[in-house]
Amino acid sequence: MNNLICISCGKTLTSKYDTRLCEKCLLGLNLKIEADKVAKVVEELNNILVNFPTDISAAFNKDPAASSIVEVLTAYPGIQAVLLYRIAHFLWVLDIPFIPRYLSYIAYQITGIDIHPGAKIGSGFFIDHGSGVVIGETSEIGDNVTIYQGVTLGGVSLEKGKRHPTIGSNVVIGAGAKILGPVLIGDNVKIGANSVVISDVPSNSVVVGVPGRVVKKDEVDLKTDLDHRKIPDPVSQLISDMDRRIKKLELELEEVHRSAHI
Ligand SMILES: [Zn+2]
Repeated sequence: MNNLICISCGKTLTSKYDTRLCEKCLLGLNLKIEADKVAKVVEELNNILVNFPTDISAAFNKDPAASSIVEVLTAYPGIQAVLLYRIAHFLWVLDIPFIPRYLSYIAYQITGIDIHPGAKIGSGFFIDHGSGVVIGETSEIGDNVTIYQGVTLGGVSLEKGKRHPTIGSNVVIGAGAKILGPVLIGDNVKIGANSVVISDVPSNSVVVGVPGRVVKKDEVDLKTDLDHRKIPDPVSQLISDMDRRIKKLELELEEVHRSAHI
């Protein structure tokens, strides 16, 4: 005789199976699981339908060379890679085996852009030119982010789990820049070409160099995309500071010599 009670409603269980839920609660739970699955599918499908048009308009907003929708869809590797990524990510979230990875492989073959289907990417995402871009599995990217050719959002660990960067919204990442490890890049950040970023970057800042250094904070001009003439060079600044100090020391030394001879 089964004297157990349902853990959900407290009713005595009559089922011969050790379910710990009565038939009514079990049915309710199954319906909820199915409803959650349907809601997830609808949400992810909605993400593609809402996000992909924003990716296309980002191409027009961020590339002065873009002239027609046909051109953007057929001749922009960044757009093709992002569309295939969005479909692959939809299938990835639904736990469909193999196909998401194969889609990202096809996108890589066509465009030279390698986006893992597990990456999470917000709306208005634009990859200009694209060759050599790598976006790892646990990368997270906010809205309105632009990246150029040769950018890597890479992992530095062989452990499973979060190992790729998290990028905020309104971020521009210059050609060849590498952002490595589970670092946090804030909103409204610009990362100069060929920078190697290995630590967190606060919002509203500009980063350049190897390793990346914050050279400007709270005064990022969001209108100009990535004009490198307006980004300070920390190495040349350091050298000119040292030069100034050496000249000052030389003058002081001269003064010491002169007074010693008097
Ligand atoms: Zn029950």
